[in-house]
Amino acid sequence: MLYQIAASGIGICPEETPFDAGVADVVILNTCGFIADAKQESVEAIMRAVKAKLDGFIKRIYVFGCLSGRYHKELVAEIPEVDGFFGPDDRAALLSALGVKYSPLLDIRRHLTTPPHYAYLKVSEGCDRSCAYCAIPGIRGRHVSVDMDSLVAEATALAAQGVRELIVIAQDTTYYGLDLYRRRMIAPLLERLSQISGIEWIRLHYSYPEGFPDDLLDVMAGCDKICKYIDIPLQHCDGKVLGMMRRPSDENQMRALIEKFRTRVSGVALRTTMIVGHPGEGEREFKRLLKFVEDMRFERLGAFTYSEEEGTYGALNYKDSVPQRVKQERYARLMELQGGISLDYNLSRVGSVQRVIVDSFEDGNLFCRTQKESPEVDGQVIVPVKAAPAQLIGNFVNVKITGADYYDMSAELI
Ligand code: SF4
Repeated sequence: MLYQIAASGIGICPEETPFDAGVADVVILNTCGFIADAKQESVEAIMRAVKAKLDGFIKRIYVFGCLSGRYHKELVAEIPEVDGFFGPDDRAALLSALGVKYSPLLDIRRHLTTPPHYAYLKVSEGCDRSCAYCAIPGIRGRHVSVDMDSLVAEATALAAQGVRELIVIAQDTTYYGLDLYRRRMIAPLLERLSQISGIEWIRLHYSYPEGFPDDLLDVMAGCDKICKYIDIPLQHCDGKVLGMMRRPSDENQMRALIEKFRTRVSGVALRTTMIVGHPGEGEREFKRLLKFVEDMRFERLGAFTYSEEEGTYGALNYKDSVPQRVKQERYARLMELQGGISLDYNLSRVGSVQRVIVDSFEDGNLFCRTQKESPEVDGQVIVPVKAAPAQLIGNFVNVKITGADYYDMSAELI
């Protein structure tokens, strides 16, 4: 959408431009309607835009995305200051509101909101699974893959724009291809992406444990351009909780899968996500989760507290039985445990030489990442320098790791 807006001659401000900066006529908000925290963040952003409009800084507000689609009727009734609400499939209608004619042929062209050297590449939309807590299949529908040739064309255009790192995303990246090609095609896709000139790193997020394709591990182990990084949200390990989550894995299978990752892809960094406070999780089940995390020593782990989402199987069939205070307390205990594991992992890298990509330069520091850190969600490698030539940003340098804390590492240029 942004590419087509820009191609029509409309100027686009940097994403971080405050609504009351007085430089834009129109604000477009892309919203998330997935969980309570995301919904709240989206509504707060809408209300900040409304204030800027009422104060005369902007003329029009358009709200787009999942929250807007999911709660369309309620939002129209409750926030009349917004000029239009559009669901995630309403791109043509939003462009039309701006006086731009939508062209499907331009769908593969991108105007980036990330720094110019990395970009997210969405390979499919929707999900065929039915996890009890999850609203995504209801919001985004069944899984639909983008055909491989279109993705390669999109990635080639991104590389020509200066993108060096592709971050491959979907609700479940390992499911890619099952609808279009009748088999899992994520490994062949990554192989084709790795042949694009200019692309140096390809990173994979959001893979689902059940049916994890073995050929993906071969490609990851054998191709230097594929980051040795697997993001596999497991959500829990306890059999009873997983059953109530309607996720078919069990703890033994998960332990075996993680061992396989580490055996087959030497030095791989694993990232996972857990939900605490799901219905069915008592203190015993939670302690089992802690023990699992302690044993598995994930290099990275994020957690959510369970929030009941209307329309989901969980909301219709379970009582949200764990009190909020207990959810928060379990979250803190889990993250404290993970803090020590992350610290140990970072400390184990002190003294090593790492190839890093330079994301930015601020206040005398280069902010970089190795292939084991994804932007936004993982830590950074911070390198103090007197000055940074502009050509350093978005490029690769070698550094020696000199220090580590729970999250970030410090390093020196070599
Ligand atoms: S696999 Fe992921 S997106 Fe699909 S229902 Fe489960 S949690 Fe939601």
